[in-house]
Amino acid sequence: MHDPDCLFCKIIAGQIPSRKVYEDDEIYAFHDINPWAPVHFLMVPKEHVHSMAGVTDAHAGVLGRMMALAPRLALEQGCNPYPQGGFRIVVNTGDEGGQEIHHLHIHVMGGPRPWLKG
Ligand code: 5GP
Ligand code: ZN
Repeated sequence: MHDPDCLFCKIIAGQIPSRKVYEDDEIYAFHDINPWAPVHFLMVPKEHVHSMAGVTDAHAGVLGRMMALAPRLALEQGCNPYPQGGFRIVVNTGDEGGQEIHHLHIHVMGGPRPWLKG
C-alpha cells in the first residue's frame, strides 16, 4: 500500500532517489541521508505502516525477516564481525519516541566508532 504523502513510500517507488542497500518483494533498505555512524542504513517494509505502533500480527512475518536480514546487510555494508564489531538497531516510534518519518523503519548503525573506548 502506497501513501502518496509519505517520503519513504516515494523512495520505495523510486520517485525520490536513494542509495539502495537491498530490495526484495516486501523489504527495501537504503543509506540514511544524514548518517549518525560510519554505517547507517534504514530498512523499511514496502507496505506503508506508520510506525511500530501500527504493527499487527499480520506484520510479524515481514518484521521477522527484516530483523533476520539486518546482520547480513550490516556486515555487507562494512560493520565488523561480532563480538568486537557489531551494530545498533533503533526503531523510533511516535513523536515522543523521536520518529520524524511516519513510515516504519529500522535504523541499523555500526562501524568503527572512535568515541567508544576499546
Ligand atoms: P526517524 O527520526 O524518523 O527515526 O528517522 C528518519 C531518518 O530518515 C533520519 O535519520 C533521516 O536522516 C532520514 N531521512 C530523512 N529524509 C531522508 C531522505 O530523503 N533520504 C534518506 N535516504 N534518508 C532520509
Ligand atoms: Zn509510506
